[in-house]
Amino acid sequence: MATENADAVQHQYIDIGANLTDPMFRGVYYDKQKHEDDFDAILERARNRGVKKMLVTGSNIEESRLAVQLAEQHKKLLYATVGVHPCHTMDIETSGDPDKYFAELEALARKGKEDGTVKAFGEIGMDYARLHYAPADVQRKHFTRQLDIAEKLDLPLFLHMRDCADDFNAILYPRLSTLPRRGVVHSFTGTHEEMTSFVAHGFSIGINGCSLKTEENLAVAREVPLERIMLETDAPWCEIRPSHASSKLLIQAGKHEQALKSGFDKVKKEKFVKGKMVSGRCEPCAISQVAAVVAELKGISVEELCEVAWANSVKMFGFEESVEYNNS
Ligand SMILES: [Zn+2]
Repeated sequence: MATENADAVQHQYIDIGANLTDPMFRGVYYDKQKHEDDFDAILERARNRGVKKMLVTGSNIEESRLAVQLAEQHKKLLYATVGVHPCHTMDIETSGDPDKYFAELEALARKGKEDGTVKAFGEIGMDYARLHYAPADVQRKHFTRQLDIAEKLDLPLFLHMRDCADDFNAILYPRLSTLPRRGVVHSFTGTHEEMTSFVAHGFSIGINGCSLKTEENLAVAREVPLERIMLETDAPWCEIRPSHASSKLLIQAGKHEQALKSGFDKVKKEKFVKGKMVSGRCEPCAISQVAAVVAELKGISVEELCEVAWANSVKMFGFEESVEYNNS
C-alpha cells in the first residue's frame, strides 16, 4: 500500500466532523447487521492517510455520551462534541423532562471539557430542510436553550444550519458578545451571502462533500477566506460522488487522480471484505478528497491548504499536539 502511505507522509488532516458513533461503523445499517464491526479498521485507514485528529459529533444525549466514550478510549486521536442536533430536538420533548435532559447535557459537556475530551458544544442549530424530524418552533426553542448552556460552558460552537439562515442568525447574532469563542458552521451548503455573513461575525466554515456538490456550492467554497476554512467528512454521510460538481475537479487535477483512485476501492456492504471501504459509507480517510477539491478551487497546494486548515482547527478547538503513529 505504498501509494497510501506516500499520501500520509505528505499531508496531515483534522476531520472536524465525523459521526463515528453511527452504527454503520459497526456494520449495522438501518438496524440490520450487514457485516462485521470494522470500527478499528476505519480508524487505522484514517491514520494511514494522515488523519491525525477527528472530532466525533454528538447529536443527542446518548450519542454525545458515546462520542465522549470514544474520545476517552482514543485520547489525542478522537475528541467529542456534546449537544442536540436540530433533527433530534424531539428527543428532548419526548424525554418527559427537558430540564433534566439539559442538566445532564451540560454536566457531560462540562466534565468532558475538564478532561480534555470535549472540544465543542454541538451539533446544535436549525434545519428547515428536514422539518419532518422536528417542527421549526421546536428547533428554535431548543437552539436558543442550548445557546444558554453554551454561554456558561465557554466552548466553541459546532453549528448546523440548513435552509434557515434568517431565523438562525436572528437567534445567534444578538448573543455574540457572550459567545467569544464563536464556532464553526459545519457542512456548509448556504449561499455566498450567508457565508460572508458568518465569516464577518467571526465564524469558520466547515467544508465536506455536501458543501461541494453543485457549481454554486463550488463558487461559494472558493470564496471562503483561507483563515476560516475547516475540513471535514461528516462520515458516514456526505461523500464525494461521481455525479457531484466536485468530482470533475478531482479528475481534472492530474496530481489528485491518484488520491481519487488508489486505496478507495469500495465493496457493497453485502459483499464486505475486511480492509476495504463500503460503498455509500463515507469515512474520515476520504478527507483527502475534500482537501484536494478545495485546494484546486483555491488554486493552492494541498499541503498549503492542510497546514492552514490544521492551524484554524487547532486554534478554535485547542487540540493537543499530535501523537505520532507508526504508519509502516
Ligand atoms: Zn450537521
